[in-house]
Amino acid sequence: MSQEFDVVVIGGGPAGYVAAIRASQLGLKTACCESEAYADPKGEPRLGGTCLNVGCIPSKALLHSSELYDQATHSFVMHGIKADNVTIDVPSMIKRKDNIVTQLVTGIKGLFKKYKVTFIPGHGSFVANADGKWQVKIGEEIVTATHVIVATGSHARHLPGIPVDQQLVVDNIGALNISGVPKRLGVIGAGVIGLEMSSVWKRLGSEVTILEAMPDFLAAADANVAKEAWKIFTSKQGLNIQMGVQIKEVTPKKKSVVIKYENDDGDQTLEVDKLIVAVGRVPNTAGLNAEAVGLALDERGRIAVDHHCATNLPNVWAVGDVVPGPMLAHKGMEEGVMVAERIAGQGTTLNHDTIPWVIYTHPEIAWVGKTEQELKAGNVPYKQGQIPFLANGRALGQGDTTGFVKVLAHAETDQILGVHIIGTNASELIAEAVVTMEFAGAAEDLARTCHAHPTLSEAMHEAALAVDKRSLHF
Ligand code: FAD
Repeated sequence: MSQEFDVVVIGGGPAGYVAAIRASQLGLKTACCESEAYADPKGEPRLGGTCLNVGCIPSKALLHSSELYDQATHSFVMHGIKADNVTIDVPSMIKRKDNIVTQLVTGIKGLFKKYKVTFIPGHGSFVANADGKWQVKIGEEIVTATHVIVATGSHARHLPGIPVDQQLVVDNIGALNISGVPKRLGVIGAGVIGLEMSSVWKRLGSEVTILEAMPDFLAAADANVAKEAWKIFTSKQGLNIQMGVQIKEVTPKKKSVVIKYENDDGDQTLEVDKLIVAVGRVPNTAGLNAEAVGLALDERGRIAVDHHCATNLPNVWAVGDVVPGPMLAHKGMEEGVMVAERIAGQGTTLNHDTIPWVIYTHPEIAWVGKTEQELKAGNVPYKQGQIPFLANGRALGQGDTTGFVKVLAHAETDQILGVHIIGTNASELIAEAVVTMEFAGAAEDLARTCHAHPTLSEAMHEAALAVDKRSLHF
């Protein structure tokens, strides 16, 4: 007799495990399966998906360690702190990162116990729909479910002719496990992951060259922010970023990789000790038996869903990286909550217009809502306020005054349409803008809100005041 559930979640990443926990909290008998993709050393599948195992969490751990090293070698001196002979022990840095990952993935197992989610290790796929119930094969077992939530996530895109061996040529998995500082590091892709990984190794002493096919740097960000970031990353930090290149050939040698490419100046050759390929991510739909049961995909291979993450099949939902929208953990988690609550009969919706974006470089970059170029393209009348961190006492005290906060508001209604930050702690500061926009707040709402002094958040306050041309400290 097969196990029967109200809900079976396929995939235990942030979108899937959160959906499972929320469904179980709402009284639905819930199981979640996870394949061996991120197995522990004993071969046991680990929960947490890309985010916890080889994404958000380990990358932020390495970014923080490398940032501290960078401060010790470059910034301590301005505070009068002498730190001679500072060295980096890369294996210890990697071990610390691994410990954080283990702690968190173990924690999810604990949460499953606490909230009574049945964890079934194994690859999940659709078998058939019989009598209004879904049969799902997990490993060798077939379980029955009224609802199925597909949360199978994504994997790194590789390029034809560039074999990734996770030693010399690595994707995000290998990039988070490099055991020593490469003298010369090549990175294909100047997107979020490429920039974050480049920052880690540049701070630790690598010569970094980033090769990007697109002509515009950080095209999704507000143009002012992208311009400022370009200046800081290239001129101040020394990242060699080349835009509009065409990769011709990648040849791994014994201990190096030779990349032949073309840019505006013609044919070029670059030899590096390690090459990171960071050219985007591919949704995981292979192996789901999607075609056999008629699960519709869109033109880019993602599971096609409506606004509520319902697929074309009855009682089949899909959330996270496997569906359209930004490939971000917090977006997937909120979709998971929404779907679980809808299954339980609630009318939950998700506002996809207020999903924050963050790039964890230094300075950090964060935004929510529309960019100035999007407003112009849409002929939306707007006004803006922009305040540099140079005018913020706390930033000065911290010795970190790069960047600015920019608030875009509707010219007539004053409603905030977008907020863009480049600067220290942008990832934390953006939350205030997200909340304000979620409540359809106006620049005036932020401007009339008392902000603690001295804090970086005062830059947000001043930028909101500046929308109405009444900033007080700039
Ligand atoms: P995943 O996390 O990919 O999880 C899906 C899970 O399903 C995987 O564990 C997979 O093994 C499992 N699975 C797949 N198919 C099956 C199957 N058939 N049966 C059973 N199990 C299956 N996002 C942020 O928001 N902030 C960040 O700072 C950030 N940093 C990142 C850094 C890097 C280097 C990378 C690569 C990504 C980063 N992301 C970040 C993106 C984030 O990791 C993803 O958006 C997020 O993990 C998506 O969650 P998910 O649950 O949809 O998919």
